[in-house]
Amino acid sequence: MAGLYIHIPFCRSKCAYCDFFSLSISSLLKTRPGIIDDYCHAVENEFILRKAELIGPIETIYIGGGTPTVIPVKSLTRFLSGIKEAVEAHNANYRKQEGADDYIKEFTVEANPEDISHGLLGRLQETGVNRISIGIQSFDDCQLKAVRRRHNSIASIEALTALRDSGINYSADLIYGLPGQSTGSWESQLNILMGFEPPHFSAYLLSFEPGTQLNFMKEKGSISETDDTTVNAMYKILTSTAGKHGYHHYEISNFSKPGQEAKHNSSYWDLTPYLGLGCGAHSFDGNIRRINPNNVAKYIASLTRDCPEPLAAIDAETRINKINDYIITSLRTSRGISTSFIREKWGEPAASIILQNLQRLSVNGQLITTEGHNYRIPENKWLTSDSVLREIILDDE
Ligand code: SF4
Repeated sequence: MAGLYIHIPFCRSKCAYCDFFSLSISSLLKTRPGIIDDYCHAVENEFILRKAELIGPIETIYIGGGTPTVIPVKSLTRFLSGIKEAVEAHNANYRKQEGADDYIKEFTVEANPEDISHGLLGRLQETGVNRISIGIQSFDDCQLKAVRRRHNSIASIEALTALRDSGINYSADLIYGLPGQSTGSWESQLNILMGFEPPHFSAYLLSFEPGTQLNFMKEKGSISETDDTTVNAMYKILTSTAGKHGYHHYEISNFSKPGQEAKHNSSYWDLTPYLGLGCGAHSFDGNIRRINPNNVAKYIASLTRDCPEPLAAIDAETRINKINDYIITSLRTSRGISTSFIREKWGEPAASIILQNLQRLSVNGQLITTEGHNYRIPENKWLTSDSVLREIILDDE
C-alpha cells in the first residue's frame, strides 16, 4: 500500500498563523496568467518521472496546499481526472485479489468554506473525489478576522450544510487557543460543529511559527499566546465533547466516527510509503525521505522542458532521527508505539533501550499498555506529552 500527496501552493491570501508553503494566486496570475495550468502539467510530469519510487498500489490520494479549490473548476476537474487516471494506470501493474474493490480507497481534496457549493461538490465527485477536508477554524467572525481568514461564519455554515446534503465523506478543521477565544467560546465553536455530526474532525492548538504574521504580532505585543491553564481547559472540553458525541480520539488532533479515521493521514503515522508531488512536498519511500524545493518557477521549468527532471532532494536523516520520528508520531496516536515494529525495522540495541524506557514510564502511569502490547500516552496527557517523549527518544549516535 502507498499514498500520493499533491501540494497546490496557491492561496487567495495568507492566514496569519500559516507556515505552509503557499503564494498569493492573484499576484502570480498578474505576471504569469497560465501559471495554474503550467503547474498542474508539471505535477503530472513529476508523477510519471517518480512513480517508480513507490512499490505497491496507491490507495490514498490527498490534494492539499495551499488551497486546491482556488484552481478554476474546469482546470481543477481536468487535473484531478488526469491524476486519477495516472494512478489507476500505475495500480494496474498490481494484481487485485478476486472480488476486491478499486485500489483507491480515499481521494481527498482540501477546500476553504468560501469555495464550497453544491455545484463544485458534484463536479469533484464526478472525478472520483470521495472526501473533502474543510478549514472552518472557528465560527466566530472576530476570531477569524484576528488570524486573517477570508471566510466568515455564514460561509462555514453554508459549506457544512452543502457537504452534509451531498453525502460526501468529509472532515472539518477547528483551531483552539485563537486570540480572544475564551473556554466558553471554544465550547460553543465545538458544539456548532457537533450539530453537523461530521464523520471526522481535526482540532489544532494554535501555534506561533517563526516567520508568520501571528508570531510577528506576538513579538510586537499586539497579541499574546493563550496561557497553559486555559489551553488545558480547552483540551478537556475538546475530549469530553468529542467523547459525548461518539468520536474516537485516535491522534492528538484527530477525531473520527467509528471507521472514519483518515486513511491517508494515518498512513503517515505508521510509516506507509507515500510520494509527495509539487513544491515543498515531502515523500517517503519506506526508507528515505525526500523534499521538493519551494520555488514554483524553477519547479515548472525543470519538469516541462525537453528532458524533464525531478528536483526532490534526499533528506539526510540519520538512523536515530528515523527511530525518533517514529517514536514521536506513534506516541501521538491512540495505537501507540510498537516495540516489535522497532525491533523488526531497526533491530537491537535500539529496541531494548526503548523498551526499558517505556516500561519505566508505564510504572508511574505516564504510559499505558494496549491490547497489541503497544505503549501509549493516556488521552488526558497527550497535550503535555513532550516531557514523556524526551524520556524515550534516543540520543544521536
Ligand atoms: S488558506 Fe490554508 S494554506 Fe492558505 S494561507 Fe490560509 S492556512 Fe495557509
